[in-house]
Amino acid sequence: MSYVVSPVGFVRSCFKEKFAIPRQPHLAPAARGVLELQPPFDTDTAIDGLEQVSHVWLLFMFHQTLEDKPRLKVRPPRLGGNATVGVFASRATHRPNGIGQSVVKLDRIEPGRLWLSGIDLLDGTPVLDIKPYVPYADVVAEARNDIAPAPPHPIDVHWHANALQQAHAHATRLNEPLVELIEQCLAQDPRPAYQVPTPERRYGVLFWDVQVRWHYPQPGLILVLEVVPA
Ligand code: SAM
Repeated sequence: MSYVVSPVGFVRSCFKEKFAIPRQPHLAPAARGVLELQPPFDTDTAIDGLEQVSHVWLLFMFHQTLEDKPRLKVRPPRLGGNATVGVFASRATHRPNGIGQSVVKLDRIEPGRLWLSGIDLLDGTPVLDIKPYVPYADVVAEARNDIAPAPPHPIDVHWHANALQQAHAHATRLNEPLVELIEQCLAQDPRPAYQVPTPERRYGVLFWDVQVRWHYPQPGLILVLEVVPA
């Protein structure tokens, strides 16, 4: 049996590639985007009442990692990329039906557009449904997860003086909290856990329309080298 689903909208996100996106929502509160709703959901009717809600659940497609053959085991980055767990014990992107879910902050709404922050979604992500977060039902005080018991420990992010100036200038141009976005995302240490970075090795990612480059002068420390137009 199969069912057909179709997106209610698409996310325009600060994240233009998968690398350096936080592994869950809220880890980078400065990560912002706009959910652009598709007809017939793009009028004030479908969002009537949503102004009374601070956070929403988004159900979406991992559209860049869809696979024909379902995996039964996955290697969560959280476990270093070597250990495997059953697909249903993980929130990895490779999964049956390719469906993701994130609770995100709803900053502003207008017909056809929802402004979001704290997102972990790639630009162009198709959203299948939007549901209000219901604190009394969704907060589970006694919940535990021994695979991911706490957020990843953040690492230090330092700036080359020029890079910080560049980031401030682009933040003003974009009218976005770009300095905070870079600090919050790099503090998650986006490098694959199995890679031991040498100080010579350069890393880079595209946020909005700027390329951010950094290196690891020593283990556990990131130095942002430049923030330049892509
Ligand atoms: N919060 C969601 C969940 O639990 O279903 C996503 C968790 S998943 C571990 C987060 C990662 O998904 C991000 O780090 C990013 O690299 C990846 N991602 C985000 N949007 C995606 C998309 N549209 N297609 C494929 N991968 C995506």
